[in-house]
Amino acid sequence: MQLGLVFYYLIAFFVNIITFSNTSTIGKHLLIPHSVKQTRPIIDSNIKTIYLSFDDGPLTGTPNCIDICTKEKVPATFFEVGLHQSRSAFGKNVYQQILKDSALFAIANHSFSHAYSKYISFYHHPDSALLDFLKAKYYLKPTNNITRLPGNNAWNLMTKKRASELVSPLVKKMDSIGFNVIGWDLQWRFNKNGRPIQSPKWMAMQVDSLFFYNQTVTKNHLVILMHDQMYRAPQDSIKLAQFIQLLKQNGHYTFQKLTRYPGLKPNI
Ligand SMILES: [Zn+2]
Repeated sequence: MQLGLVFYYLIAFFVNIITFSNTSTIGKHLLIPHSVKQTRPIIDSNIKTIYLSFDDGPLTGTPNCIDICTKEKVPATFFEVGLHQSRSAFGKNVYQQILKDSALFAIANHSFSHAYSKYISFYHHPDSALLDFLKAKYYLKPTNNITRLPGNNAWNLMTKKRASELVSPLVKKMDSIGFNVIGWDLQWRFNKNGRPIQSPKWMAMQVDSLFFYNQTVTKNHLVILMHDQMYRAPQDSIKLAQFIQLLKQNGHYTFQKLTRYPGLKPNI
């Protein structure tokens, strides 16, 4: 019995030596600590971060935005409208498609009703407007506390605070319950038919210029606002792909979801 035990420990000892000295990098470092070169992470101060954001979905243009970002492997944030998500099987299905790729995409709160496009009245009633965002939170179940006001470029993060007189009462209420409010640095505009106005090249030049002249809310971080519906037609969705490809050609640009934006209030 005792001999068996000794034999067992001997086997275990040799197995340990073989494992430890074989292919494990960690094991090698532990055995020969002085051979490990301390390497510092390379910090490229020229790196600039772009945050693509798509507003007002789920709508018929949203699947194209999902497909293009997936194909180009670029992260994006979808500011969803609770009503659009909850009113149809299509809305729920597209919402699930975004949700499915949480590595690439984030869903953020863009209100429930989008103010039914009656912005002045919406912002003049901050208590009901706040309830509208809470209702959207119930339906969208975002895993972050990022919001964007309908039809208004306001900001409320840890230190970045920008709000017009009209939206300020609502933004203060949102701030008090921990919401981050994120606007945008650059918008790709659309015409009365909902089609993109500027060319992909013009948009890429705007990005270059805003970074160069440090005209973004946070230095070296740029938020682009687009609307899902702009890319519902193939001749327009190709412009989104071209824009992303132009941005990727600049070796100093990287893409992130807005959950990685600096200075966010913590998720509570
Ligand atoms: Zn909107």
